[in-house]
Amino acid sequence: MCEMCHRSPCLSGCPNAPGPEKVHTCKYCSEDIVVGDEYFEYDGEYYHDECFADCAVELLIEAGAKRSTASEDDIDDGSDYLYESRRDEMLLERCG
Ligand SMILES: [Zn+2]
Ligand SMILES: [Zn+2]
Repeated sequence: MCEMCHRSPCLSGCPNAPGPEKVHTCKYCSEDIVVGDEYFEYDGEYYHDECFADCAVELLIEAGAKRSTASEDDIDDGSDYLYESRRDEMLLERCG
């Protein structure tokens, strides 16, 4: 019987209660992935859900993904699209 909560097995919340069971080890942070955790399996390795998000960015950058800061030079003003949709509207009005 447990000397903290006087139960066997322990009440949940008792410091002596066994933690959730470890299922895998996270490749990214080296912590346990335990029962109830969401995780990713990739290339034979296991990652916490949130670790995988960080890791996936790094993997994609290694694979050639480019991260940059948006600047005014990159603005695509979409003028062609605006022109075309306006033209379509005018055509529709004429037909109607
Ligand atoms: Zn206990
Ligand atoms: Zn992790």
